Amino acid sequence: SWNLGEWAGIGVYMHATFLLIIGWVALASWLQERTLTAMAGAVAFILALFACVVLHEYGHALMARRYGIATRDITLLPIGGVARLERMPDEPRQELWVALAGPAVNVVIAAALFAWLLVSGLMVPIEDLAVAGGPFLERLLVVNVFLVAFNMIPAFPMDGGRALRALLATRTDYVRATQIAASLGQGFALLFGFVGLFTNPFLVFIALFVWIGAAQESSMVQMRSALAGIPVADAMITRFQTVSPGDRLARAVELVLAGSPHDFPVVAGGAPVGVLTRDDLMVALQRQGQDALVGQVMRRDFLSADSYDMLESAAARLQSCGCHTIPVSHGGRLVGLLTMDNLGEFLMIRAALGHPRDSLRREGRMAA
Ligand code: ZN
Repeated sequence: SWNLGEWAGIGVYMHATFLLIIGWVALASWLQERTLTAMAGAVAFILALFACVVLHEYGHALMARRYGIATRDITLLPIGGVARLERMPDEPRQELWVALAGPAVNVVIAAALFAWLLVSGLMVPIEDLAVAGGPFLERLLVVNVFLVAFNMIPAFPMDGGRALRALLATRTDYVRATQIAASLGQGFALLFGFVGLFTNPFLVFIALFVWIGAAQESSMVQMRSALAGIPVADAMITRFQTVSPGDRLARAVELVLAGSPHDFPVVAGGAPVGVLTRDDLMVALQRQGQDALVGQVMRRDFLSADSYDMLESAAARLQSCGCHTIPVSHGGRLVGLLTMDNLGEFLMIRAALGHPRDSLRREGRMAA
């Protein structure tokens, strides 16, 4: 992604594939009209449309900021924009406002355009509009109305789905509310897919998008609730091998061949100082050979957790960093490792035991 700039302290990025859309629009308009002005007009329109999408995302981000939630960045993708909030609000009422703030921005833009067109007398009947024909601002108005309608479809991952979940969550618990909203979303997806088969293939694509979004949201919330209130110490791996910055890579190779999983915590004086990932190890072996030192290859900017942290937040960190392993320490000493695999196993065992609120490993927790 390329950085387009920063406004209100939030960086805006454009994904590389976005250029494809601009290229496609330019080409399509050239093939149809064969004039440079028409092509420039079409590209300007797509840019204006995506400016409205960016403003929509700012709606979410600035409303979230009111509740003390920061936004990492806003990225433009060919299918729309994504504002990466640091977390979703826990309070249903706040989630409702954050979800509605995006579409509300498009309502405001549409209303302003409508007022301007009315005052200036530039409005033409809606039947006379075409994808590339008719007043620029009126087409932008129609697109904003479409953005509101599309985003308010009550299905994940659309804003409407989040708003619906938030409304339900004021009456029932969060997991149940998510399940209802997700099922409804998948119902919508089926309907879209079915209608799309006979009318517009694009609807089938949206249906797929909605179906996957609903399934993801529902499993994520289920996992979050299964992990809530459990300390990291209960789920972490406590039997593992470490390497030190002064070790040669040969030592890590030995451990891998002896059956150590994936990534190694690098420890100096009992404290974690880095992580040697399997991928980095393989690359380093190829470039530098077995005699290179672990300290030259390890990652120093790694995430970690405390054994008394809650699993819910540690799991979120593990997911967001895209890393496989995070070291768990307590009082400055390495006491365990948390990996996606062992989190999955932990959840599976809890589900099998059917006692989601019992601690599985009290002894382990004491020792940690
Ligand atoms: Zn939105």
